[in-house]
Amino acid sequence: MAENAVAERLSEVRERIHTACGQYGRDPADVHLLAVSKTKPAELVAEAMEAGQTHFGENYLQEALDKVSAVPGAIWHFIGAIQSNKTRAIAEYFDWVHTVASVKVARRLADQRPDDLPPLKVLVQVNVSGEASKAGIDPAGLAALIDGILSFERLELRGLMAIPEPQTDFERQRESFRTLRELRDEMTRQFGGDLAAFTDLSMGMTDDMVAAIAEGATWLRIGTAIFGARN
Ligand SMILES: *Cc1c(COP(=O)(O)O)cnc(C)c1O
Repeated sequence: MAENAVAERLSEVRERIHTACGQYGRDPADVHLLAVSKTKPAELVAEAMEAGQTHFGENYLQEALDKVSAVPGAIWHFIGAIQSNKTRAIAEYFDWVHTVASVKVARRLADQRPDDLPPLKVLVQVNVSGEASKAGIDPAGLAALIDGILSFERLELRGLMAIPEPQTDFERQRESFRTLRELRDEMTRQFGGDLAAFTDLSMGMTDDMVAAIAEGATWLRIGTAIFGARN
């Protein structure tokens, strides 16, 4: 990519977010940008840092760890599938995990979170696309999983995440995101004060970010629009 391409793309993305917030009555301060740097080199992460971006998302642990050490000061979010044997490194090097979908993984992350770090911020990944997706917990099991996670003091449960089946139609995109928002609101009612900071909705990527903003996203996970296409 050309010199400063990341900085330019970032400001375009911020502009798009701002416009969509105006269109759908959202406060831009509530819509956070997670720059998804998977498959991209640490140099581009550093370039984004220089342009004011601080939160980065990674899917693959080994690749992420190389960048964690190469780019000090960045805040890392794990957004990939979690294998049990990888939880220790995730608990040590990440500040957020968006893809918790079982009590077993949650317990391991809680047990392995180092004592000198604040509780790990976690989101529960929900499967809002039914048969079309295997990742994430079924909505029917969500309350039980939340109940389990609430017993882990080393985890701070912040909300829900989804990767809906890709849709080109804007209204269809909104439907999946609306499902996730309604689940969050339902859980908030059900658990009341026990779910103190349960407000986040991690949803929306490059091709459906506007629909996600319209339905209440608080974390947009954007890769391609910032770093260019992945090979
Ligand atoms: C790769 C990825 C993204 C970013 O997708 P883009 O379409 O490149 O913006 C977001 N979330 C998850 C979970 C991903 O794996």
